[in-house]
Amino acid sequence: MRLTTDAVIIREKNISGDDRVITALTKDRGVISAFVNGAKRLRSKNASSTGLFCYSSITLFKNKDTYIVNEASAIEVFFDIRRDIEKLSLAQYFCEIFMALAPQEEPAGEYVELLLRALYNIAKGSRPLSLIKAVTELRLLCLSGYQPDLVACSACGEYEREQMYFDKVNGRIICSECIRRIGERVGEYTALPAGVLAAMRHIVYSDISKIFAFSLKDEGLELLSGITEKYLIAQTDRTYKTLDFYHSVKNGII
Ligand SMILES: [Zn+2]
Repeated sequence: MRLTTDAVIIREKNISGDDRVITALTKDRGVISAFVNGAKRLRSKNASSTGLFCYSSITLFKNKDTYIVNEASAIEVFFDIRRDIEKLSLAQYFCEIFMALAPQEEPAGEYVELLLRALYNIAKGSRPLSLIKAVTELRLLCLSGYQPDLVACSACGEYEREQMYFDKVNGRIICSECIRRIGERVGEYTALPAGVLAAMRHIVYSDISKIFAFSLKDEGLELLSGITEKYLIAQTDRTYKTLDFYHSVKNGII
């Protein structure tokens, strides 16, 4: 079987000599692993078209369960991401969460579009990285079946109250009055300032072309980024090595 599809390379691993294995998020087959025979030859033919973060048109052969890259042509290489370790670590984290959440052997055009928009924004450098991180985490969760219900308080249906809380376990919001009435413990939920809730609603309910287009003060952004991250970890019930690395870089430990 022969297939040509557009893909973002989300992992690369040299195996021996010129050969390597890549993991690619493809429009037509979701996440796949593929061998690149003679990677250096291929690379010299078409610069870094199978390198990490590269967006390429790739032609694959499938032999039983194994994909082999026959041709690759770079569309965008996102070279600027590699020049800054914080940008690089965030992009690596995105690769890991897409690898975990995007489908395998199924069309994944929306995932490719989201990852591309995230990488474009990182490379361009005109939006805070915390904003790009929060948008990508939350929207990826929506795509993969974990969309939270942020329309109104899950108990009384109020759209807006003085204080709303986010329930990361059940993916819903609840107002302070209902928490009091039901007698639940406030500590189980995260208080959402109005701006943070508005941002979350924007990320979940806007057209993909607009999801990165909002602003929030630094404090709100950090809170938002913490909430989307905790929601991702709670829903997927696992940790991400590249996320720890991103935090180490951001906090100046590395
Ligand atoms: Zn309520």
